[in-house]
Amino acid sequence: MKYKGLATRSVHAGTIIASDYPGANTPIHTSTSYRVDFDKEDYTPYPRYLNTPNHNAVANKLAALENAKYAYITSSGMAAITSAILACVQVGDHAIFQKEIYGGTYNFVERVLDKYGISSSWIAIDEMDKLESLVTNKTKLLFLETPSNPLLKIVDIKACVDFARKHKLITIADNTFATPINQNPLDMSVDIVVHSASKYLSGHSDMLCGAVLSNSKELAHNIFDHLFNHGPTLDPVALYTLERSIKTLALRMERHNSNGMKLAEYLSKHPKVTKVNYPGLITHPRHELAVKQMRGFSGMLSFEIDGDLSKAKTFISKLQIICSGLSLAGVESLISIPRLSSHYRMTNQERKDAGVADNLIRLSVGIEDHQDLIEDLEQALTSL
Ligand SMILES: *Cc1c(COP(=O)(O)O)cnc(C)c1O
Repeated sequence: MKYKGLATRSVHAGTIIASDYPGANTPIHTSTSYRVDFDKEDYTPYPRYLNTPNHNAVANKLAALENAKYAYITSSGMAAITSAILACVQVGDHAIFQKEIYGGTYNFVERVLDKYGISSSWIAIDEMDKLESLVTNKTKLLFLETPSNPLLKIVDIKACVDFARKHKLITIADNTFATPINQNPLDMSVDIVVHSASKYLSGHSDMLCGAVLSNSKELAHNIFDHLFNHGPTLDPVALYTLERSIKTLALRMERHNSNGMKLAEYLSKHPKVTKVNYPGLITHPRHELAVKQMRGFSGMLSFEIDGDLSKAKTFISKLQIICSGLSLAGVESLISIPRLSSHYRMTNQERKDAGVADNLIRLSVGIEDHQDLIEDLEQALTSL
């Protein structure tokens, strides 16, 4: 590969230079119609066919970062996830999903999948040793997401892939939290990687987009078939913005990683913080595994403050730089209380089973100066 390092690939891979005005960037190609030579049975670019220049430029950049042969860019993370899942299963099949996955994926499995005649089972990260008991002769798919939200648990990707191989299951990994800068599931023989590119890949909390990647020609063909027929593609201007964003991905992740580490260390020493979940800390129960399969630990962490839900709310209200808000992985630090957001609809028992306490706080650490973020946390904690 011409572009070795991840930062070099982030900047250069995929760029399509115009031949008439060769600039530094891929131009925005807005056409939905391209000239055809009717004498030849020609291939026509068309945005929904995922073959126009702006699509290819981003797809090839991301493929270079994830070491994938095939990549498709979609209009949301959920479009990527649902297309990947539906590409692997058909009526009568059974699929196994990690319990700790993104809420939207959870809803899709619970509310939509069985309407397609596909049954499903859940497996908690801490019970992966019981996977075998869930497999039937109809099981086709194992879906993983690591690190998990909001507790930053780590799944042993290699062990899951070995298991899946043994039982001829296709594996999908949601790599949104780690990004290709920190983790490459395809290198660990996962079959399909999905991303919500709305998060770190675009990185500025201003876009909705997704991606699906694979090294399997057959799976890529099935995924393409779903995208081509359902049509959740991204328009050229958004594709251009995403391409521009990924140019700084390696650079941004370097800062997200180091800020995440510094804030996790700061919080874990604070007397008003009772617990910190961050895979980069040696106190994390799967720290060694995280080190083995990740190059960095990103900017996502969660912690419990000494107190109840109202203490957590007061704490957040005192913050001056760190903004309270949903979503994650932007350049700005964002903070939320899972009890009141992602886990709002669950019963108390369900939340307890999921390990989501009322005083749990999720922090998406941005790229600001870490000293400013620590000062902000310090003044809010001191005021409690
Ligand atoms: C946000 C998110 C999604 C869904 O992505 P959208 O772009 O909102 O459709 C999927 N997986 C993870 C891990 C996410 O954080």
